[in-house]
Amino acid sequence: DKYKEGMKKSRQTFSGKINDLLAKYRKVDEDFFEELEEVLISADTGVSTVMDLIDELKMEVKRQKMKDTSEMKDVISEKLVEIYYGDDDQEIESLAIQKGELSVILVVGVNGAGKTTSIGKLAHQLKQDGKKVMLAAGDTFRAGAIEQLEVWGERIGVDVVKQTAGSDPAAVIFDGIKSAKSKQADVLICDTAGRLQNKVNLMNELAKVKRVIAKEIPNAPHEVLLVLDATTGQNALSQAKVFAEATDVTGIVLTKLDGTAKGGIVLAIRNELQIPVKFVGLGEGVNDLRPFDAHAFVYGLFA
Ligand code: GDP
Repeated sequence: DKYKEGMKKSRQTFSGKINDLLAKYRKVDEDFFEELEEVLISADTGVSTVMDLIDELKMEVKRQKMKDTSEMKDVISEKLVEIYYGDDDQEIESLAIQKGELSVILVVGVNGAGKTTSIGKLAHQLKQDGKKVMLAAGDTFRAGAIEQLEVWGERIGVDVVKQTAGSDPAAVIFDGIKSAKSKQADVLICDTAGRLQNKVNLMNELAKVKRVIAKEIPNAPHEVLLVLDATTGQNALSQAKVFAEATDVTGIVLTKLDGTAKGGIVLAIRNELQIPVKFVGLGEGVNDLRPFDAHAFVYGLFA
C-alpha cells in the first residue's frame, strides 16, 4: 500500500538498521540500547523523543523480563506508536470541518515546502468526499504562486479566488470568504505567503488574515495547517517552532516523506511541539496526500 511504498527509504534505515542491531546483539543490554539510540537519532527522531522511547523500552524489557533481543521488535513498534500519541487517544486526527457552514482552512509554510501541491491534493480529497471546495490565492508574494494554484484548480475542478500579484493577502482571503459563502461552499482553503525572514512580519500578516477571517466567521479559521518538508529534517522542526510561535497551528502537513530515509521526524514534531501531524505527503500525485495514521506509519517503517 501507499504508506509502505512511500516509506521505502525510511524503512531501509529503521527496519534495516534495527534488524542488523537485533542480529548483532543477542542480549538486551546497555550496549544494545546505546546503539539503538544512535540509529533512532540518525533517523531524525529527535534527541528528547529518543530518550523517552529508550526509557519506555527499558521499563518494558524489565516488566516482561526480556533477555533476548529477538523479542524486542514488536515492542519497539508498539512503543513508537505510543510515543507518537503521548497521552492522547490513539485516533487519526481529522480536520475540523463544520456541518452546514463554511469551514476555513488556512495553510502556512515556507516556499518550496509543498504548500501549493498539498492544497491541491487536499482540495481534491475533500471534493472526493462530496464537499464543495474553493481556494483563495493568498500567496500574493511568491512569483507564480497564484498561477500555480490556478493550474491545480483547473486540474481538480475547483474555483480559485484571486487578485493580482502583490495585493493584500487579507483582502484576497476576504474576497474568498464572500465568494465561498455566496456559492455555498463547504470548505475554503486559503494559501498564504511563507516569508520566514522576519518573524514579526510573519506574525503580523497572519494575525491580520486571521482577524479578517474571524470577522466574517467567528470561530474561523477552523484549521491552521503548517506545511513542512520532511527531507529538511531538523530544519523542519525549527521552522515549525517559529510558525507555532507566530500563530496557533492546529495541524502539520508533512510533505515528501517518500523522499527521506529519516521518517523519524514525524515523531520528533509531534513529541516536541505537541502539534498533531494531520497529513503526510507520500508522492507528487494528486492522491499522494494521506491522513496521518501512526499505526500505518510504523507499519511502513517495519513492514
Ligand atoms: P510551495 O512553494 O510550498 O507551494 O511548494 P510546491 O507545492 O510548489 O512544491 C514544491 C515541490 O515539491 C514540487 O515539485 C512538488 O511536486 C513537490 N512535492 C510536494 N509534495 C510532495 C510529496 O509529498 N512528495 C514528493 N516526492 N514531492 C512533493
